[in-house]
Amino acid sequence: MALVVQKYGGTAVTTPEHLKKVAQRVVDSYNDNNDVVVVISARSGETNRLSELAREMSPRQEGVEYDLVISAGEQMIVGLLALGIRELGYKVKTFLGWQVPIYTDPLPTRASIQLIDSLKINAELKKGAIIVVAGFQGIDPRGNITTLGRGGGDTSAVALAHALGAVQCELYSDVDGIFSADPAVCSDARKIDRISYDEMLELASQGARGVQIRAIEYAKKHMVTMQIRSSFTTESGTVVTGEDATMEGVVVTGIVYDKNEAKIAVMGIPDTPGTAAKVLTALADNDISVDMIVQNVSQAEQADLTFSVTKTDFDKAHQITARIAEELGAREIIADRNISKVSIVGLGMKNHAGVAARMFTTLAYNNINIQMISTSEIKVSVAIDEKYTELAVRVLHEAFIGYS
Ligand code: ASP
Ligand code: MG
Repeated sequence: MALVVQKYGGTAVTTPEHLKKVAQRVVDSYNDNNDVVVVISARSGETNRLSELAREMSPRQEGVEYDLVISAGEQMIVGLLALGIRELGYKVKTFLGWQVPIYTDPLPTRASIQLIDSLKINAELKKGAIIVVAGFQGIDPRGNITTLGRGGGDTSAVALAHALGAVQCELYSDVDGIFSADPAVCSDARKIDRISYDEMLELASQGARGVQIRAIEYAKKHMVTMQIRSSFTTESGTVVTGEDATMEGVVVTGIVYDKNEAKIAVMGIPDTPGTAAKVLTALADNDISVDMIVQNVSQAEQADLTFSVTKTDFDKAHQITARIAEELGAREIIADRNISKVSIVGLGMKNHAGVAARMFTTLAYNNINIQMISTSEIKVSVAIDEKYTELAVRVLHEAFIGYS
């Protein structure tokens, strides 16, 4: 008997009708001769709603009481799904995080899983029960309920798959898998069958939504094979696993964009040690993270420092930068909130020269100006004018991945 972990949440568990379908899927998998552990996250919008309620009581969204509120959406769905499974005539056993127990560190709203005690779940599996566990939550050393960061149900599922030795962790959502580009933007986008952890991490950090980044990191560290698939179809999804030779043969696996970017350029600051540090420290002290950074030396021992922040942080970042720029005697600040980032990601870049050149040529040919560039071993990102985002994605998909 193989053990599978399946995670459902969001749009798949919105109504009792949805939950009945999930119950049927779970039971089908059980009848396929599998031990099944289901991890649940709250229905769409529920955690936001709970968070908003907590904020009305106390604007500081922190502390164990806050976690107690926002972890509540999972409990209800665990119960509802278990009722559905039982109604189909199967034995079911439910666990909240603390009942497993899933031990975490004592950092409310962003706790990390330290240890999962698999004893009780294993005992129930032996009795033939289908297990339903609340994701997103654990218990800290003081006995408080903690949460694992937004989207943390994915991490619960991966961690349970690891702790229980599951063959695979299936993450269900309303998308068929990971695509070579956003299908809403690029009609040639195709579903990726297999992808490496590192590519998946880059895609997720450069703007692809769907799986919590911490969950991917956890899966990579412990070599847990994930499958990202739709709860609305029986099609297989995208398998996320360790690298293999075939993956390296593909130069570009996916193209992603992120419109939540804005640009700030400080022109004419003294080209002396410590100026860049001063600007970036002031931002970091205010919890603003900077993504791309470019510095170029202009004349008269002055430099221009350009960087990107999220649109969300833009106003605050602009104010802080203006203050520091004045202290440093900078000539001017140019700020632009209409920026987006487009990235190409692929393992094969490691051994193929000229990938960036081809990307830049493709953009130039389409008259798209590159404002900033950043790279990693398996990724090239460019910042461009936001209004060319969709065009850039389409022409890059055509150049690197082709038509379907
Ligand atoms: N319900 C939690 C959230 O909305 C956890 C999850 O969805 O995975 O962040
Ligand atoms: Mg989620």
